[in-house]
Amino acid sequence: MKDFCVIGSGISGATIANSLSKKYSLDVYDKARGVGGRSSNKKLNKNESFDHGVQYISPKSCLLYTSPSPRD
Ligand SMILES: Cc1cc2nc3c(=O)[nH]c(=O)nc-3n(C[C@H](O)[C@H](O)[C@H](O)COP(=O)(O)OP(=O)(O)OC[C@H]3O[C@@H](n4cnc5c(N)ncnc54)[C@H](O)[C@@H]3O)c2cc1C
Repeated sequence: MKDFCVIGSGISGATIANSLSKKYSLDVYDKARGVGGRSSNKKLNKNESFDHGVQYISPKSCLLYTSPSPRD
C-alpha cells in the first residue's frame, strides 16, 4: 500500500507529488486523459500544439525563489 494518493496532476498536484516522492511512496490520479491540468500542452495535429493555460510563470512571492533567498 502506498503512503499517499495525490488527486490531480496539475502544477499543484505535480509539485506536492514531487516533494512527497523524495521520502514516501505515492500514486497520482487524474481524471483527464493526460497530465498537467491547466499547465498542459494540447496537440492539435502532428505539427501544431498550444499551451492549454499557463504561458508564463511570473512569481510575485519571494517564497518562490530558490536559495540564496532574497530574504536572506
Ligand atoms: C487560459 C488560461 C491561461 C493561463 N495563463 C497563465 C499564465 O500565463 N501564468 C500563470 O501563472 N497561470 C496561468 N493560468 C492559471 C494556471 O493555469 C492555473 O492557476 C494552474 O495551472 C492551476 O493549477 P492547479 O494544479 O491548481 O489546477 P489544474 O491545472 O486545474 O489541475 C487540476 C487537475 O486535477 C484533475 N482533477 C480534478 N478533479 C479531479 C478528480 N475528481 N479526480 C481526478 N483528477 C481530478 C484535473 O483533471 C486537473 O488535471 C492560466 C489559466 C488559463 C485557463
